[in-house]
Amino acid sequence: MESTKISFNIAGRLPIGGGNPIVVQTMCNTSTDNIEASLEQCRRMAAAGADMIRLTTQGIKQVESLGKIKERLRNEGIFTPLVADIHFLADAALAAASVADKVRINPGNFAKEHATACSKFVELISLCKEHGTAIRIGLNHGSLGERITNLYGNTPLAMKEAVMEWLRICVEQQFFNVAVSLKASNTTVMVEAYRLLYKAMRDELGFIFPLHLGVTEAGNGDEGRIKSAVGIGTLLSEGIGDTIRVSLTEDPVNEIPAGRAIVKAIEEGYSPFGGRTSVEAEDWNDFIIKASCLWGPSLLDKKIDDFDLSGSRVGGNPLSGDDAARFKDMLLQACRRRFTRPEYIACPGCGRTLYNLEDTFEEVKRRTSHLAGVRIAVMGCVVNGPGEMADADYGYVGEGRGHVSLYRGKEVVMRYVPQEEAIDRLLEIIEADDF
Ligand code: SF4
Repeated sequence: MESTKISFNIAGRLPIGGGNPIVVQTMCNTSTDNIEASLEQCRRMAAAGADMIRLTTQGIKQVESLGKIKERLRNEGIFTPLVADIHFLADAALAAASVADKVRINPGNFAKEHATACSKFVELISLCKEHGTAIRIGLNHGSLGERITNLYGNTPLAMKEAVMEWLRICVEQQFFNVAVSLKASNTTVMVEAYRLLYKAMRDELGFIFPLHLGVTEAGNGDEGRIKSAVGIGTLLSEGIGDTIRVSLTEDPVNEIPAGRAIVKAIEEGYSPFGGRTSVEAEDWNDFIIKASCLWGPSLLDKKIDDFDLSGSRVGGNPLSGDDAARFKDMLLQACRRRFTRPEYIACPGCGRTLYNLEDTFEEVKRRTSHLAGVRIAVMGCVVNGPGEMADADYGYVGEGRGHVSLYRGKEVVMRYVPQEEAIDRLLEIIEADDF
């Protein structure tokens, strides 16, 4: 898909879009008010090669903390651009415009009234112009407003339409330091949304704003990497996407090598268009990313139903039968073609998470591994968790310090359960449903 891709520089030093190298970014899972912990994580991320780092910025207090973190990092000679992650509060976005290098927002969440949200967005654009700050319009499948879902349903089309409304305002205001994301945890929804948006920008605007790609709530381990490689790799192989984040429920520093591995796999021809028919990988992690980029897109688009791993090698050795079968199950599930294991939806955690998400998610996985086909969400916070866990059958959602709410679909079944007993209660709810 060829079209004019525009680019801009973040903080005057990081070009994004327009055919520049793919920017690999990550996000702190610390509380931004815990300045020392956030600094420590930012330093490790920068050392691991993060091109950009995002921090949770719920309110004005966190904007101030972000400012202090930025100043300390710059004094240490670390110039990695910092992004303020705003979800709802327009005033926090306005304050962040003079502090962060980029502000991530969903303008639709600024106000219930669309006209008010629009005027706040215009105000933000004007401040960003003044301070040379970029904006990411970040819209997730789980956070579409009622106005848009009433018009188009909860669909990729609705995601595209919602973003186009905000992009038209950017064009009217002659503001082009804008990237866009349309993430979803479901790889088919995610890929379709970006393809629709790319086409709409090309046909209506005549140019392409830089796109930030990611699969939300991808989980951890092999499954998280495979799901991300399928969604991100499919689009990158079509020339769609300028910056990526692999969201993992792990130490966020791990997101950098995973992201780099996807970019490298595509560059080395591991895609449906690269002419390869087998994988030559250094190790298991290298293998799962390359193989997901090679066969994932065609599985996702239902162009193939199966694939042949017999010629593939890991560390110079043929793949074992067990590893080949395990990978096949995981890739088919990530492409939503065959469900042989539980489907986990887990957010990576951020400054809003008030419990040990990584360990809890591992424990939930361990105790529910027999529930093939059941979709279980483990989410860090009640602010965004319920919306973002999309079509999960059951949800484990952090609610305040040390407490959890348990969901069946969209409905809360138990509220404010102490964390120590929450997994037992979740299993009781699932078992009572006779899965
Ligand atoms: S669901 Fe809540 S805790 Fe998890 S990443 Fe989103 S905002 Fe952060």
